[in-house]
Amino acid sequence: MSDREQIISGVSISSGIVLGTTRVVMPGDVQVSEEPVPASRVPGEIEALEKAVEETLAELREVHQAAIRKMGGPVAKIFDAQLLIAGDREFLKTVKAEIERRRMNAGFVYHAMVQKAVVPLKRSPERYMRQTAQDIESVAAKVLVRLSGGSDLSKRLPPNTVVVGKTFSPNDILAYRERKAIGFIVSEGGTESHMALIARSLMLPVILSEDAWRLVSNNVPVIVDGVAGHVIVNPSESTWGEYQRRKRRLGPPLVTRIKKLTKIPPVTADGVPVHIGANLTLPGPADEILAQQHIGVGLYRTEFLYLANSAFPDEEVQYEHYRRIAETFGDSPVVLRTFDLGGDKLSNGDDFPAEDNPALGLRGMRAMLEMRDVFRTQVRAILRASAHGNVRMLLPMITDISEVERAKKIISQEKLKLRQEKKKFAEDMQVGIMIEVPSAAMTAETLTRRVDFVSIGTNDLTQYTLAADRMNSHVAHLYNALHPAVLNLVYKTVRACQGNNVPVTVCGELAGQRLAVPLLIGMGVDMLSMAPARIVDVCRFIKKIDSTLVRHLVGPVIASGTVQAVVDRLRDYREALEK
Ligand code: PEP
Ligand code: MG
Repeated sequence: MSDREQIISGVSISSGIVLGTTRVVMPGDVQVSEEPVPASRVPGEIEALEKAVEETLAELREVHQAAIRKMGGPVAKIFDAQLLIAGDREFLKTVKAEIERRRMNAGFVYHAMVQKAVVPLKRSPERYMRQTAQDIESVAAKVLVRLSGGSDLSKRLPPNTVVVGKTFSPNDILAYRERKAIGFIVSEGGTESHMALIARSLMLPVILSEDAWRLVSNNVPVIVDGVAGHVIVNPSESTWGEYQRRKRRLGPPLVTRIKKLTKIPPVTADGVPVHIGANLTLPGPADEILAQQHIGVGLYRTEFLYLANSAFPDEEVQYEHYRRIAETFGDSPVVLRTFDLGGDKLSNGDDFPAEDNPALGLRGMRAMLEMRDVFRTQVRAILRASAHGNVRMLLPMITDISEVERAKKIISQEKLKLRQEKKKFAEDMQVGIMIEVPSAAMTAETLTRRVDFVSIGTNDLTQYTLAADRMNSHVAHLYNALHPAVLNLVYKTVRACQGNNVPVTVCGELAGQRLAVPLLIGMGVDMLSMAPARIVDVCRFIKKIDSTLVRHLVGPVIASGTVQAVVDRLRDYREALEK
């Protein structure tokens, strides 16, 4: 790879600009950095490689045997390919010769040669070939993990590290943040994936680029431009200097800009207040300032407590956690969403069963109604925290009224127990539901009669309405919350809420999009809840909007037949305002 400046385009899935040095990681955090080794260490490298391959083979054999026992020969056959790959003596011989010739560390040479072998397979039109490439990479990852002595996620990274990898789970992002990573370059995952959401809430820039993983080498200077949506590898001195200046021009950090906001809630040009909330995932860098500015928490994604711990924390741990948030935000509302697990937020084999189609399986409220004890524990912790602030409980992924009834019954039962135990809680704690699947939006009239408030989750509503996985970059072009089908469902829900006198929030990413804000205000949404990074911009923009005028936007937008027609209308309006 050349040292020349190279711009790799992609999509920004978490905004911000950082300047740093790359760390390319494999699944399992294998280090593949290039390290020359003296001749005396070459035999040691070869021996380590042989050992890593032997151990991998032993592991695969065990899995193979277990698969035969549990699932029978036909299923176990899928492991045959991996066994063949791991046991490929010819390939191993070539790698060893190459280590001797190049005098490089075994991991680097092995990885480079595996990549050379898989690139043409990956490009093949034959599915079988592409599957083989995946098998080879998966075996290679196992070998490389062993070669690197296993993964060590506790080690701090060098300052200003930008982590480059194929795909990261929310847990990975958390782990790297702990290790002080400043940004990410990924090849897989959609803009509304939970990986992206957590990166945004932690204010870590992320660029999604299919090619980056292949094109970026380890330990090279890099600029992640999460505003323009590209990565600059090996930037020239002048580019580097320019970006440093641009970063300075971006102004003070977010917390300072939030501090400077004068009127909260912001009011429209004609004097109508629009409530603003923050979407939080874990305690973040801006919490104190948000609280001082009386910006409440419109959505607290408690499931990340599970993800951060890799287990469900007990009642006391949860209670302490929620109490701290409630106290930080004082009188401002804190909406604690009960665990929204399943789908893309948990990998198979954790506490959840493997499912062929997890997005349509045990997710959110459905999962909690199956895992009653986990739900009861969380309900108790949230109720107890409600004694310390303005806490509300939000139930995710509701599809049917029966789920609301069952959840409310459990909440009542836990209230009764807490009373008997003489534990304090707010008797009138509000309980709301998320409307994020079409069935809920279509029956919002009925659902909203049974709850204290509603929050529209446009991220999921979009994926379920358009049948476009929010995580899947192949269908990212279809995933658009401005699709008229999605907007019709949003409006239907808002009207149902208005009819039943139930306050309604939009808490999906749509609430923070400049283009959508006038439309949502026109519909009569009571609160917009968004990532902290969007708050300043949206508050400033609201001041320019005339709430009466935007009501006239709603009809034509809702009647649009295409995303383009919606965008054109909203863009015309925004441009007129910005003039
Ligand atoms: C949503 O679906 O819009 C939402 C806010 O919930 P999450 O993104 O956590 O699924
Ligand atoms: Mg959701």
